[in-house]
Amino acid sequence: GKVLVSGANGYIAMWTVKILLERGYRVRGTVRSADKGKFMSDYFAKLGYAEAFEFAIVEDIVKEGAFDEVVKDVDAIEHMASPFHFNVSDPQEFFKPAIQGTVGILKSAVKNATRVKRIVITSSCASVLTPGLSVPKVFSENDWNEASPKEVEELGSKSPGASIYRASKTLAEKAAWEFYNQHKSQVQWDLAVINPPFVFGPAIHDVTSLKSLNTSLQSWYDVVVSDSPKTKEVLGQTIPWVDVRDTALAHVLAIEKEAAGGERIITTSGSTIWQEWLDAANSLNPNPLPSHKLAIGLPEISQGEKVYLISYDKSKEERLLGIKFNTIVETTKATLEDFARRGW
Ligand code: NDP
Repeated sequence: GKVLVSGANGYIAMWTVKILLERGYRVRGTVRSADKGKFMSDYFAKLGYAEAFEFAIVEDIVKEGAFDEVVKDVDAIEHMASPFHFNVSDPQEFFKPAIQGTVGILKSAVKNATRVKRIVITSSCASVLTPGLSVPKVFSENDWNEASPKEVEELGSKSPGASIYRASKTLAEKAAWEFYNQHKSQVQWDLAVINPPFVFGPAIHDVTSLKSLNTSLQSWYDVVVSDSPKTKEVLGQTIPWVDVRDTALAHVLAIEKEAAGGERIITTSGSTIWQEWLDAANSLNPNPLPSHKLAIGLPEISQGEKVYLISYDKSKEERLLGIKFNTIVETTKATLEDFARRGW
């Protein structure tokens, strides 16, 4: 079969394309410019997939009908393109591509996709959680982040970037389900949604410098590798997480598993505090990133009982996808090795 992947040059999407190709799918990836497409073609040609991979340029996913052509001959769609950073103050800068991009690809599928059986959308745990809790809570797929859209509605361009991002993901996912429910009687496909928390692990997308790292891996670098101050507040912060390779696999399984249809699925390895990542890095001998003396942090805060303010119910993922997730140590090792290969 052939799979369309939007935002194909991104951190999670590149791994998703790679796993799809390894499993025998043909892939059409959409990117915003030819140079981003060329990076992908070159990368996958080197792995022997020159025939199986192609890219298409979709310059502006907000534009009406942007995906009309590219959905035509594919069997499944992975919609992954969406802005993810916190340096934003105008909510529309995120809401437009997140919401209109998502609804737009579904509209194009209604209009032109005659072969599509499953559409998978990359949402986020940002659409599930309630930010700023002071007592621990276990969230599940039944939960929705009602707080961030409300906050952004009230604060407008004074909203924190993180709230704008979370609201964009929540509103985009809601819009997807609403659109699907309105159109399901007239289409031959169904919808599945993947909700990952913080995604960490090695990068295969085009990272030209530390500054151009994608947002989640940037946070990981800042805490685990850079010499930023390691305060108790930072190191004790709850970080629910998942390895990027497992996230990608979840997207592939979500098109393969019949039972994933109609479901939003939280895909997480579990919750951590940042200190556990320093512990993991320091447990590796030899240090995979010899250019850096890794900080020890405050090992006492990860001893004994830890408080995770946010954790996620994994039972739906276990039932529907059953991924064997990478451990903290495995992901840390692979990530530091990746940084070392880049000469960082
Ligand atoms: P990246 O920043 O690496 O990838 C984002 C992708 O979306 C890129 O292809 C980017 O294209 C594209 N994109 C961004 N803004 C726009 C826009 N305005 N119009 C069109 N395309 C756009 O991030 P990730 O791989 O981490 O994110 C991929 C998806 O996963 C997103 O939907 C994100 O919300 C979601 N997610 C990520 C998590 C994480 O921790 N990384 C956690 C949960 C969900 P370009 O390169 O041209 O900018």
